[in-house]
Amino acid sequence: MEQTLSIIKPDAVAKNVVGKILDRFESAGLRIAATRKMQLSRADAEAFYAVHAERPFFGELVEFMISGPVVVSVLEGVNAMSINRDLMGATNPKEAAAGTIRADFADSIDANAVHGSDSVENAANEIKFFFSDREIC
Ligand code: GDP
Repeated sequence: MEQTLSIIKPDAVAKNVVGKILDRFESAGLRIAATRKMQLSRADAEAFYAVHAERPFFGELVEFMISGPVVVSVLEGVNAMSINRDLMGATNPKEAAAGTIRADFADSIDANAVHGSDSVENAANEIKFFFSDREIC
């Protein structure tokens, strides 16, 4: 059984499509092992995206991620990381395949509806960033 981290980003929370996105995960056979709505602080967003700190879009990414609440979840299932990445679609919604979350709910490369861990190793670190063991069940 594998776990991965999902974030429903501020654009999708503002559009009131949290339930529709969580349904995509469950309909694909993933289980929601933990979930929480929260407002990220600037320090949270900078730490979470530290790997992108040198990228030209880092400032915009942090501003966007703190522009409103997010919904963070641990998704669990066989191949959960790659299944979630397939459900999300390409980073740029204009390139995302039809029927993916980003094709259906995202507007731009910043406001792209969802984050999902991109490796099993990163997933473990990202899950620890947001959840304690007793919150995951
Ligand atoms: P992801 O794993 O598909 O989310 O993509 P990345 O890990 O490469 O990038 C992290 C996030 O940074 C993306 O989801 C986008 O929100 C943002 N991002 C990536 N590339 C760009 C870019 O070229 N411009 C801007 N403004 N944001 C970007």
